[in-house]
Amino acid sequence: MKIGFIGLGVMGKSMALNVLKAGYELTVYDVVRENVDALVQAGAQKGDSPEEVAKQSDVVMTSLPNSAIVESVVLGEQGVLSGLRENGIIVDLSSITPKTIRKISSMAKEKNISVIDAPVSGGAEGAAKGTLTIMAGGDKKVIEKVMPLLESVGKDIKHVGDVGAGDTIKAVNNLLLGINMVATAEALVLGKKAGLDPDIMFDIISKSSGGSYALTAKYEKYISKGHFDPGFMVDLMYKDLQLAIDTAKDLQYPLICGTLSQQMFEAARAEGLGDRDISSVIQLFEKWGKTEVRSEK
Ligand code: NAD
Repeated sequence: MKIGFIGLGVMGKSMALNVLKAGYELTVYDVVRENVDALVQAGAQKGDSPEEVAKQSDVVMTSLPNSAIVESVVLGEQGVLSGLRENGIIVDLSSITPKTIRKISSMAKEKNISVIDAPVSGGAEGAAKGTLTIMAGGDKKVIEKVMPLLESVGKDIKHVGDVGAGDTIKAVNNLLLGINMVATAEALVLGKKAGLDPDIMFDIISKSSGGSYALTAKYEKYISKGHFDPGFMVDLMYKDLQLAIDTAKDLQYPLICGTLSQQMFEAARAEGLGDRDISSVIQLFEKWGKTEVRSEK
């Protein structure tokens, strides 16, 4: 099985390297040349466009920033769909709207090409270690066919329903992560301002009922040190919250905490934090509280 990989950023680069390590023949493409060079040095072939990558591949994997980019890379001129043979498979690992992946899937079907939405969770670290959680939507038989490939990038891989179901679960998951991140940031600044030692606060709360992934994954590595290199960028979280908000709007379901949380990430973007890790949202609360939550060790 020959593999194509498009989108070699924070997540895609590591995932593509793991595909190579698993022994697959790999052709790659990214608009940023250095990202391609890094994979070519590791043994991948370079494709000059998504179409060229698809011509060399049985399965094309994509890990791209948003719905519009996935749509143009797959359906656009010199896109994946123009290059892929009949019975080819597209595995989209990005987090995008269920609507977009369903549209791509129905257009691909006309060419006898299958589409799987397989968004991932586990961050840059999970991508590097090949331990991502993957929530796959689409035809069960097609998912079984690409399972060994998915196992080269992830550990916990679940078939969650028809095309679009993976992206829906991802939107719900990241809705919670966004809300928890903002809530954690607000609470930590309050604790610090009220005189608590941040490390003691972390130690206790991470083992108590107020704990969350947002606290355990983001306190020691980012907040306590004041280092906010991503990680998971504010811009991407803003986009993911929009996926949840759009889904809720279509269903006429109010999304109060999600909308509030997205506004906090909007404020973070306005403060120039768009390309920082999501934990940098704490810097807004720190500014308002006139106190920083850093380790005192
Ligand atoms: P990123 O911005 O680091 O990587 C995206 C890559 O796509 C970049 O290398 C960029 O140059 C490339 N790209 C952009 N437009 C392109 C085009 N038209 N053609 C080809 N390449 C193009 O983003 P990331 O953090 O790797 O995230 C990728 C996807 O995975 C996003 O949908 C994101 O929401 C999702 N995700 C990210 C994380 C995380 O922790 N970073 C975790 C889970 C899911």
